[in-house]
Amino acid sequence: MNTTKYIFVTGGVTSSLGKGIISASLAKLLQARGYKVTIQKLDPYINIDPGTLNPYEHGECYVTEDGAETDLDLGHYERFLDITTSQSNNVTTGRIYQNVINKERRGDFLGKTVQIIPHITDEIKRCIKLLGTKNKFDFVITEIGGTVGDIESLPYIEALRQLKWEMGKNVLSIHLTLVPFLHAAGELKTKPTQHSVKMLLESGVQPDILVLRTEHPLGKDIRRKVSLFCNVDTDSVIESKDVSTIYEVPILMQEEKLDEIVLKKLGMSLKEQPKLEPWREFLKKLKNPRFKTTIGLVGKYTELADAYKSIIESFIHAGSANECEIDLKLINSENLNAENFESKLSKLKGILIAPGFGHRGIEGKILAAKYAREKNIPFLGICLGMQCAVIEFARNVLGFENANSTEMNRTTEYPVIDLMEDQKGVVEKGGTMRLGGYECLVKKGSKAYSAYGKNMVTERHRHRYEFNNAYFEEFEKAGMIATGLNPDTGLVEIMEIPKHKWFVGVQFHPEYSSRVIKPHPLFVSFVKSTIEK
Ligand code: GLN
Repeated sequence: MNTTKYIFVTGGVTSSLGKGIISASLAKLLQARGYKVTIQKLDPYINIDPGTLNPYEHGECYVTEDGAETDLDLGHYERFLDITTSQSNNVTTGRIYQNVINKERRGDFLGKTVQIIPHITDEIKRCIKLLGTKNKFDFVITEIGGTVGDIESLPYIEALRQLKWEMGKNVLSIHLTLVPFLHAAGELKTKPTQHSVKMLLESGVQPDILVLRTEHPLGKDIRRKVSLFCNVDTDSVIESKDVSTIYEVPILMQEEKLDEIVLKKLGMSLKEQPKLEPWREFLKKLKNPRFKTTIGLVGKYTELADAYKSIIESFIHAGSANECEIDLKLINSENLNAENFESKLSKLKGILIAPGFGHRGIEGKILAAKYAREKNIPFLGICLGMQCAVIEFARNVLGFENANSTEMNRTTEYPVIDLMEDQKGVVEKGGTMRLGGYECLVKKGSKAYSAYGKNMVTERHRHRYEFNNAYFEEFEKAGMIATGLNPDTGLVEIMEIPKHKWFVGVQFHPEYSSRVIKPHPLFVSFVKSTIEK
C-alpha cells in the first residue's frame, strides 16, 4: 500500500488569489489520473466553525452531508471532485484550541505546560494526518487559509515545517502568489513574490512549487528570475493566468503540467494522462449556449456574491446542462415594496428566493413569491425561500391575515411556519440547527419527482423552523401540496403548486450537492422551465 502524500497550498502577497480553486484543480487532475484524493481547509480564525459568522464576513456557510457547517471552499472541492467531504475537511484554530483545552482539562498533559509548540502544532498535524490515514487517500491536499505573514497563520506554517522535516519526500509545498502588472512601467513585477517566499523561508519552509497569478503571460525570463530568487526549479514556476470561469483552471493547470510536476517531485507514477472528457464537454456547452434566460436571485446579501456561492455555481452547472446562458440578477429583497415589486421583477423568466435568517428583507421576499405565483413565473424557494412562499400563500390565498413564521413574529395568529419541536429547548447557537443529510420521500407525478426521476432522495439541511403540519389540509385543499416528506418524521420537505408552470419550494439546500458533471436535478429542471424555446 502507498503511504499518503501530503500537499500543502499556502498563499502570499494578498488574499483572494484562489487557493481553493488551485487546490481543487490540482486534485481534479490527480483524480483524473486514477488517484484517490481529498482536500482539507485549515482556517486561522477562532470561531469553532463559520456557522455563526455573518455571510458578509466570510461568504456562504457550506454544509456537508454529515452536518458540518464549513468554509465555502469545501463547496468548490465537492463541485470539482464529485466527492463528499465531512467535518474533518475543515478545521479552524478555534477547534484546534478547543480540542487541546479539552485534553488539558481531562488531564492528558498532566504536569506539563501546554504551549503552542508542541501542543497546538501537534493537534494541527493530528488533524491533517487523520484525514489521510482514516480513508486511505493517496493524496491529502491541505489549503492553509489566510496569507503567509499573518500572525494567525503562524502555527499552521510551523506545523507544515515540522511535517516536511518528519515526512520528507511525502510532503510537498505549493505557494500561490501574485505577479502584478504595473501599467506605468509596462512590466510584470516579481518583487512581491520574492518577499513572500522570503517570509516562508524565515518560517523554515522552502516551497517546492510556485503558482503565480498573473494578468499577462509570464515569459521565460520572469520564470527564470523567480526560480533564481526563490530556489525553485524553473519548470516548477507555474503560470496561472486570469480566466473567464474558474472551471477552466484545471485545463490551464494541465497545460502548465502542475500535476506532472507534483507527481514527479513526490516520486509517484504518472499513470494515465487525464482526459477530462465530461469536464471539457461541460465547458464547451457553457461557452456555446443556444438559449438565454434571465433569473432573479432574491436575497438580502446581494452586495457580496460569495454569500450565495453554491446557488450561483449551481446555476452555472444547470445552465451548461441546458445549453443556456443565464443572466442572473441579484435582487435585494429589502428594496422591494408593494409599489415597486412588479416593475422590479418584470423582466425575469424565473425567480429564486434565497435561504436566510431573521426578519430583515422578509416582506420583499414574500412579495417576490406572490409575483411568481400570480404571474405563473417559474419559482424555486430554498429553505427560508420556501417558507416565504408558504407565508405568502397563507396570507393571499387562504386569507390568513398576517400569517407568518414564528421566527419573524412569535405571536402571529397563523404560525404557518413554526419552530421544530426538538429546537424548542435549544439555547446555544453553534452547530445546533437541523443540519446535514436527511431523506425525503418524493411524491410521484410532482415536478420534483420528474426532476429527480426517483422517489427517495437525500438532501442537506440547515434550519430551525418547518412547515406547521396543523395547516397541512388547508394548504392542500387550496392548491399548495406537500410533494416531499421526511419518511421518519413527516416534516414537509417540498411544497409545490401543481397548477403553476413550475413552483417548487424546498426546505433543504439543493445547491450544496450540485456538481460540475452532476448538476442538481432541481436546478436543471427549474432553469429548463424558464427557457422559451
Ligand atoms: N431561518 C429559517 C430557519 O431556521 C430558514 C433557514 C435557512 O434558510 N437556511 O428555519
